[in-house]
Amino acid sequence: MRPPVERLLADWIASGTRGIGQIRITQSGGIFSLCHREDEGRSDLAVHRSPNDAIEIAKYTDAGEYRPLKTAPNLRRGWWLELPDVEALQRALDFFYPGRLAALAVWEANRLAPTPLRATLERQTGMYRVAAKIPDGGIDQLVGRFCRSQDGEPGCLRTIMWARDGTKARPSLRLPLDKYIAPVDQTGRGENVIPLLCQEACNLLVAEARKVVKSE
Ligand code: SF4
Repeated sequence: MRPPVERLLADWIASGTRGIGQIRITQSGGIFSLCHREDEGRSDLAVHRSPNDAIEIAKYTDAGEYRPLKTAPNLRRGWWLELPDVEALQRALDFFYPGRLAALAVWEANRLAPTPLRATLERQTGMYRVAAKIPDGGIDQLVGRFCRSQDGEPGCLRTIMWARDGTKARPSLRLPLDKYIAPVDQTGRGENVIPLLCQEACNLLVAEARKVVKSE
């Protein structure tokens, strides 16, 4: 019997999903093929055949800049990855989008317990402790800018599952409601894709919250 995350992935593929994040997934003759969603149909892509190749593909943008946030919509183009089975597919996707399939499995089991942003900020120590002083208005602006799925850098394709605080308020009213609803396709293409869930604010957002407080 398959491990739970592999089973989940097989179920999504069987349900006709078109991909995940910026990645198109197709299946033919038992082989899974992956490419950038904007590269579909190109015949000049560099072919790879190991799930480990995803590590290098995901590391830098097209401009050669390091990608600290793997769910940012800046995955480089020009590659084609062929994988022999679901196990290899899962390994590759775990390199492209670390931890996202596991989070999805927990969510589908109704066991995902997102952490409110204020709780994440309040448990920071050292130089990041000050980030907790960001006002609600600052959170609204910051999350609206930093986490948006489209139209600007840095951006992020995850669906936000966490609230601002114990009131369960949305962290930013500047983001469309779709940003908080899985499994909406965050690229805006409206396709059936595997969602990338954000169950807790990332370190990068915490660091930005600190910058906001410091600048004030
Ligand atoms: S907090 Fe979540 S949605 Fe926002 S940038 Fe970080 S990972 Fe993406």
